[in-house]
Amino acid sequence: MKDVRDVIIIGSGPAGLTAAIYTARANLRPLVIEGELSSTGDQPGGQLMLTTEVENFPGFIDGIQGPALMGNFRAQAARFGAEFLTEKVTRVDLSVRPFLVEVGDLAFRARAVIVSTGAKSKMLGLENEIKLIGHGVSTCATCDGFFFKGETIAVVGGGDSALEEATFLTKFASKVYVIHRRDSLRASKIMQERAFKNERVEFVWDSVPVELVGDTMLEGVKVRNVKTGEETVLEIAGLFVAIGHVPNTSLFVGQLDMDENGYLVTTTGSRTNVDGVFAAGDVADHVYRQAITAAGTGCMSAIDAERWLESQPHEAEILETPTEW
Ligand code: NAP
Repeated sequence: MKDVRDVIIIGSGPAGLTAAIYTARANLRPLVIEGELSSTGDQPGGQLMLTTEVENFPGFIDGIQGPALMGNFRAQAARFGAEFLTEKVTRVDLSVRPFLVEVGDLAFRARAVIVSTGAKSKMLGLENEIKLIGHGVSTCATCDGFFFKGETIAVVGGGDSALEEATFLTKFASKVYVIHRRDSLRASKIMQERAFKNERVEFVWDSVPVELVGDTMLEGVKVRNVKTGEETVLEIAGLFVAIGHVPNTSLFVGQLDMDENGYLVTTTGSRTNVDGVFAAGDVADHVYRQAITAAGTGCMSAIDAERWLESQPHEAEILETPTEW
């Protein structure tokens, strides 16, 4: 079974890299196919590469920058022998054994696969938006709310996430605008009631952000009323984009079970519907979405994969060999 990996890990956020640390320490020689540079939330290192200060990851008393934290995860996995390929997987076939994972013309085989491709926040698509992430623009109230004590800020969206974030953010901010493109909310009634009752929350109805004001730090947002066309600038120090997330699961359509929003479904820890394929992190979690929970499920997936591999008889042949690695 030379050239067949015990484990291939697809994705390299906190879940994938924790799975890499654990599987490498278990001598499973993981290959981490970590993604390639982009600025959309599916780059190597995952969504933390788009944040600045991380203050809620245990173990860092004074906080740590998101990219530095992920650099540490990666170096720790490499120290135990994890190998990395900085490319995106282009195709998988989970119906064959060993599993087939393709990166362009390269074909890899693995006895077990851990999927940790994460999710990305939907963004507004405004100029400067990506540049201002971590400098006023955020996609995570739990992570960044603390930095806006006494400030005026805004949340975009009208779903449960937006209202939950807006209500949560009033713990810190003196005022939170909720900018929503319609005049009624998609969010559940209980979330609506909570937000309506909160004196620090002010709704900006029928409106969409059209411009972010500020070059290196966010200073305001220009919103357009979609009914009247009127444009207004709201002076804010923070803008939380809460218009939904998209799990990075297009590779697995038709192969792994997903819920109606495309998140992978796991049972008994990190197991998917395909024996030998495990899922960890935000790709299978639309509820918690924290680095620490992703790392936790990454650890679970590694232990599940190790135990599953131990329970399998060793196969005797391989159909194709990789052209590299
Ligand atoms: P969501 O329900 O899809 O809501 C997204 C919101 O963003 C909608 O109000 C939508 O407007 C708006 N939106 C979408 N694209 C936009 C754009 N380009 N510009 C401006 N606005 C845009 O997403 P979510 O709030 O993240 O919730 C996802 C799922 O998780 C839901 O099932 C939700 O119930 C669940 N969730 C539950 C809780 C909880 O129970 N504690 C908390 C968070 C999320 P329209 O309404 O006009 O489409």
